[in-house]
Amino acid sequence: EQSSGYEPLTVETIPARLGGISAVTDHLGTDISTWVADEVGDGNLNLVFIVKSPAGAVIVKQALPYVRLVGDSWPLPLKRAFFEYHALIRQEERAPGLVPKIYHFDEDQALIVMQFLTPHIILRHSLMAGKKHDGLAGVMGRFLGQTMFRGSDLSMDTAKRKADLALFADNAELCDITENLVFSDPYFEAELNHHTPGLDDLVGRLRADIDLKVAAQDMKAKFANNAETMLHGDLHTGSIMVTDTETMVIDPEFVTYGPMGFDIGMLLANFFMAYYAQPGHAESEGARADYQEWILGVISDIWRGFCDEFSHLWRTERNGILYQATLFEDQGDYLASEQALAARLQHIFEDTLGFAGVEMIRRTLSLAHIAENDTIEDEALRADCEGRGLRLGRSLTVNRAVFADLDSVISQARMIG
Ligand code: ADP
Ligand code: MG
Ligand code: MG
Ligand code: MG
Repeated sequence: EQSSGYEPLTVETIPARLGGISAVTDHLGTDISTWVADEVGDGNLNLVFIVKSPAGAVIVKQALPYVRLVGDSWPLPLKRAFFEYHALIRQEERAPGLVPKIYHFDEDQALIVMQFLTPHIILRHSLMAGKKHDGLAGVMGRFLGQTMFRGSDLSMDTAKRKADLALFADNAELCDITENLVFSDPYFEAELNHHTPGLDDLVGRLRADIDLKVAAQDMKAKFANNAETMLHGDLHTGSIMVTDTETMVIDPEFVTYGPMGFDIGMLLANFFMAYYAQPGHAESEGARADYQEWILGVISDIWRGFCDEFSHLWRTERNGILYQATLFEDQGDYLASEQALAARLQHIFEDTLGFAGVEMIRRTLSLAHIAENDTIEDEALRADCEGRGLRLGRSLTVNRAVFADLDSVISQARMIG
């Protein structure tokens, strides 16, 4: 599927092609001879450029008609840029100041010109370097609480909600990737799978594990069927950019309506895997023990921050289709409203654990792994770190309903680690 006139940008063609767009020249100036474009090499799917001039800098992100990492043997529609654009607009409305500002969108060219986050770096790189970030957990808890609540039936009216559901339903090809890579491929010998050889025995056991296979399909059913809210869809630590004081979220092209626990669980899983990977990055044995505790603290603070924000919005902004105040507070029945809130949070918690579990498994057995593990050169050590993640992942997926609270999950994570 090719849009009319679509043409991928190059560092050479960017000045001429974007030089006539006032939303871009507002930031870079009109003297395009001073513009310098560089390609950022670390994305998997799209072209991303930093374009600088003496006047300023912008990010230009353009979809390709295929997966950048794999090439044209794996086609992927350009319309994902349209969905990313629409997701970014909604995230900015719902969680102000936590996503890059959009300067320009061109649907035919599948390109978004946006705020250049600087001196931000990708959080995953910090997690390998052992660097702590103040405020990270608070911001991510707030981002999750605000986007989950305000994108749902708890906040939106019927007409808006249905229109958005229909709009994002067309992001089917990216959902299809998630459905296969996350929920199915890890559980059989799918073509694109790979894993560290030292894990062969454990992988064999997991693929023969009936309870796990069924539980993973139960989570897939929730993901595919349960359109609770507008998800980011790819909320791992490579989609978060940080400075010492700031946290921002990028790259929502996998946006879809789905269960709230999906974004939360995927994010927490990536922190658990970073926790287990620390021995592979330690300057000396035990040097990352304190950092590992910091990561566990981030996990627990994100969950608490989510619950606090979600509860606050439940009590102050519940103007949507569900649990209307008419039935509860307006009749003076605050207890009923609190009871419903507690039940919703419990349900989201269970989903969160299940999605965290499948994410940990797929990042070790399926196509896309995480840099924290991939960069551990000592293969036995890598297998050890990854194996711990697999064991926690199995436990969370299968036993998601039996954990009393996040503290008991963290205790189990420590016992495995
Ligand atoms: P992909 O969808 O291909 O994964 P991303 O949106 O994740 O693309 O961008 C790839 C990389 O480009 C990011 O890892 C980050 O290094 C850089 N990048 C993307 N958006 C921005 C931004 N707004 N500011 C600064 N750097 C960015
Ligand atoms: Mg990305
Ligand atoms: Mg992406
Ligand atoms: Mg329970």
